[in-house]
Amino acid sequence: MIRLGGKHAVVIGGSIAGLLAGRILAEHFERVTILERDQLPEDGGPRKGAPQGLHSHIMLKAGELVISKWFPGFYEELNASGEVPVIDSADISWFHYGVWRLRVRTGMPKTLMTRPYFEWKLRSRLCTHANVVLRQQCEVTGLLTNESGSRVTGVSICQKGSGDNPEKLAADLVVDASGRGSQTPRWLEALGYPKPEETTVKIDIGYSSRLYQPPENKRFDWEFLLVYPKAPYGSKIGFVQAIEENKWMVTLAGCIGDYPPKDEEGFLEYAKQLDKPDVYEAIKDADPLTPITIHRFPASLRRRYEKLSRFPEGLLVVGDAISSFNPVYGQGMSVTALGADALDACLKEHAVYNKGSLAGLSRRYFAKVSKIIDTAWMAAVTEDFRYPQASGKKPYGTRWLNWYMGELFELASIDQKVYFQVILVQNMVASSRTLFSPYIIRQVMKKNWKKRQAEKQIMPVSMNKEV
Ligand SMILES: Cc1cc2nc3c(=O)[nH]c(=O)nc-3n(C[C@H](O)[C@H](O)[C@H](O)COP(=O)(O)OP(=O)(O)OC[C@H]3O[C@@H](n4cnc5c(N)ncnc54)[C@H](O)[C@@H]3O)c2cc1C
Repeated sequence: MIRLGGKHAVVIGGSIAGLLAGRILAEHFERVTILERDQLPEDGGPRKGAPQGLHSHIMLKAGELVISKWFPGFYEELNASGEVPVIDSADISWFHYGVWRLRVRTGMPKTLMTRPYFEWKLRSRLCTHANVVLRQQCEVTGLLTNESGSRVTGVSICQKGSGDNPEKLAADLVVDASGRGSQTPRWLEALGYPKPEETTVKIDIGYSSRLYQPPENKRFDWEFLLVYPKAPYGSKIGFVQAIEENKWMVTLAGCIGDYPPKDEEGFLEYAKQLDKPDVYEAIKDADPLTPITIHRFPASLRRRYEKLSRFPEGLLVVGDAISSFNPVYGQGMSVTALGADALDACLKEHAVYNKGSLAGLSRRYFAKVSKIIDTAWMAAVTEDFRYPQASGKKPYGTRWLNWYMGELFELASIDQKVYFQVILVQNMVASSRTLFSPYIIRQVMKKNWKKRQAEKQIMPVSMNKEV
């Protein structure tokens, strides 16, 4: 292993991004300290600092692959434990864009579980690394720098129970994994650096979720049921996801302010109004196990650190602190995982080309990670812009892409090859360019030609003559 000159790396935040960054840094630094504000549950329970954990989470295949690389046997152990459902795409019943997708075995197993359970298992594995320390109830209150402010040299922290005495913790590298509410822009400004430009796309989405015990006397032919609307004509979404301990996580979500309610009756009524009744039919006889919790997500957000002309040495930003996407596309944790992999690549390249010095690492890292974010951002926000109420910077070609992707979504209900490619791209394991293969373009053109022929046939005779 090639080690960098740095001895001690500090990570702010012990959630998914913090744990993954911690794992990567453990390869490159002698010691890694992860600082987490929350008291962490000793089981797979939810916690205050990650309230999204009470809502349905799915890891895309690309994310699973990165986890397996850094935590070998992670999924195999979970799957063998029998605690979690392991499914294939044929076990997913997905109504999307006005059609039911094909249900074909792809041979890509997927492990379903709640986010807190996943985080707990990941944390347990990371804590077996002798050079990693996780400090809980420890809030980072600021950055420490050298005299000129050109280099971050550590963090100031407040450990619960230690009175009002802030502690100084020195570090060769500080990685901010503190989520969407990251203080780095504010801290940078206070140090005399420019703040990163923020790009947002407003989508005003609301989530309402609760756990259920599936009904004993009913069998369903799916393990994961998703009902999405045909945007922009509908805005209501519903998921029923099998999770650990044979329970269901049921999430209802609504875009552009169409928030699902928090009360019992309203929850069921909202489920009834989805484009298909399947979610309602599944839960109407199931036993609720928890109260309904809500979460609001106003906008996808991207902080453009890669565009900054000045940035201090010794500092990086990862995970939701750098980009957070409309959650209905399930990209956040996978983009975070791909970003962690990019961090490893940068540290390796740096160790070779910079003779072990950390100087210039942030430039290399932000450039690499922004390319990963570009792909996920484009996929999420172009879909969001199907709604005229979505606001923000519209990527070039959105209208055409919406049309093309709509055709593919419809084809994914009848054409196995198209279905398979759409699944691979949505799981971020194939490039979106593969959706423009000669075969797929031909299928789209054929579909369109047939549509136009059908339209001609239903036109009144007089109009047909004019044409
Ligand atoms: C409703 C909802 C549903 C989602 N669904 C999916 C999904 O299906 N699939 C998917 O991949 N992603 C999903 N996401 C996104 C996903 O939750 C995040 O991308 C992922 O958890 C990575 O987050 P993170 O670790 O960067 O930040 P967070 O999970 O927000 O964690 C930040 C951590 O930092 C700690 N912290 C903050 N400030 C400090 C400080 N000053 N000092 C010390 N600690 C601090 C916090 O306590 C917290 O533990 C969803 C998000 C939401 C909101």
